[in-house]
Amino acid sequence: MTTIRPKSPPRDRSHILVATRSTHKLRELRELLGLRAELIDLDDVGIDAEVVEDGETFEANAAKKARFFASLSGLPTLADDSGLEVDALGGGPGVRTRRYAGENATDEENNVKLLGALVGLEAARRGARYRCVLALALPELRGPNGGLRIRLARGTLAGRIAVAPKGDGGFGYDPIFEPAVEKPGARTLGEWTADAKNRISHRGKAARRMHGILVDLGF
Ligand code: IMP
Repeated sequence: MTTIRPKSPPRDRSHILVATRSTHKLRELRELLGLRAELIDLDDVGIDAEVVEDGETFEANAAKKARFFASLSGLPTLADDSGLEVDALGGGPGVRTRRYAGENATDEENNVKLLGALVGLEAARRGARYRCVLALALPELRGPNGGLRIRLARGTLAGRIAVAPKGDGGFGYDPIFEPAVEKPGARTLGEWTADAKNRISHRGKAARRMHGILVDLGF
């Protein structure tokens, strides 16, 4: 007796949609992932819809974005969420990192507010970490409840919050973030080169883990 197996649906491995409009993020992920597949962004596919990032974890926000844009585009989709967890703030600002000092706060306003919140604390009590979560959704991969299944890759960079800003490299909280490999009061990430930062950063680690997942999936 011949068993007829249904053919699996064709899987497009030539493009990955990155759920961002930031050319900086797109370029950075291209460099970090170094794949055969072409990475394109939301503007490249003409999507102007937005997702409200209202999850209580980085994982929930990254997964929500990946699912939403994969369903909309029909393309394999990669989304990220990242932020800063400060021990003295009980792990905050966490998912509210970008808007710590207000909805449209600048990096400088966020840095000033954080330095103010930690005034007088000694180095041992200024511990903090950057976290990055990358989520991948494939349109053809559904879980038992019918929703798109998600593959996650995480990365962390441990350090502490400096007592004053230094350096103008990087972005966000880099001028007040001392990686753990630096002594208290030594260089902040704002004084590191981009290459050196990528080698140890939360995003670099998450991307290297996601690279392995993508290669296994045929990208
Ligand atoms: P989002 O992932 O675009 O929502 O942004 C998270 C926020 O976390 C950014 O706006 C930055 O303030 C902060 N952040 C994430 N990664 C970094 C980093 O590598 N350096 C400095 N700040 C970061």
